[in-house]
Amino acid sequence: MDGAGSIVVVGSMNIDMVAYCDRFPEDGETLVGSSYAQGFGGKGANQAVMAARLGATTRFVGCVGDDDLGRATIDNLDESGIDVSGIGVLAGHGTGVAPIWVNRDGTNRILIIPGANDALTPDHVTSHLAGLDRAAVVVGQLETPQDATLAAFEWARSHGATKVLNPAPAADLDDRLLAATDWLIPNETEFALLTGDAPTEAAVERWAQEWGCGFVVTLGADGVIVADGSNAPWREAARQVRVVDTTGAGDAFVGGFAAGLAAGMLIRGCVSLGGACGSLSTTRQGTQSSYPDRAEVADLGVSVPVW
Ligand code: ADP
Repeated sequence: MDGAGSIVVVGSMNIDMVAYCDRFPEDGETLVGSSYAQGFGGKGANQAVMAARLGATTRFVGCVGDDDLGRATIDNLDESGIDVSGIGVLAGHGTGVAPIWVNRDGTNRILIIPGANDALTPDHVTSHLAGLDRAAVVVGQLETPQDATLAAFEWARSHGATKVLNPAPAADLDDRLLAATDWLIPNETEFALLTGDAPTEAAVERWAQEWGCGFVVTLGADGVIVADGSNAPWREAARQVRVVDTTGAGDAFVGGFAAGLAAGMLIRGCVSLGGACGSLSTTRQGTQSSYPDRAEVADLGVSVPVW
């Protein structure tokens, strides 16, 4: 299959299970909550949905359990226009879930049960990429095993695809994965954990040189710092928006940035596109449900990918 201009996302799929309450129960206490919402999440799935919403040809490689949540997850990605043939349905594993409590202050407590996400193997990745001639971009995160992402990046290296790693949630990185990465996109906290430094232009530039990759550090309402390996490091401010819910903004950024790369846009264009996707996503409740489409991004005067 010819995947020119396409994106492969290797990563996680979770079901977010959000229980709202006045206050959190104490140890051993039972409380009646106020409402409940269930939504599709997982960093990999979110990033793929954002890229697909911008019109990118997007494939997903990952694993769900052989259960109703897994089937609903696959249907959701399929309905988003994503090629789901690389998703394994694993007997004996549950689909990844994220039970989340939110109290009346908006403070949350989150548990992630990775389930089938943890069972993604290099073999699964390699066998699903074997039928693909090429791709423009391969995207990974850290909610699935790093050796599986490394297998995808090795495939990318031999097929001329650009490798984008979102090192989230924060964790130590396998040196081989770091060495294979072309663009590293952490948020402020993840940058600090990876490098021990606060994200200044000078620090981002220094680490980009040290690791031989491009670096985009996302700073929430403060936008991003970029070190692209050729220009001096630069900042791009975030759009001022009426913020409702920032969940999933980082994933929207990564999906938008990857779509720009896949369409051959210049790095400044990719950064503006990712930033627009991230900022627009904060203006609505939810994660994937808050992501904009091409028209909404274009309405801001931001260049959208041409396929
Ligand atoms: P994460 O969700 O991984 O912590 P960030 O919070 O850094 O990621 O957000 C990613 C991007 O989303 C930012 O670089 C910015 O473009 C946009 N964004 C996030 N929060 C806001 C905000 N409060 N106002 C405007 N844009 C935002």
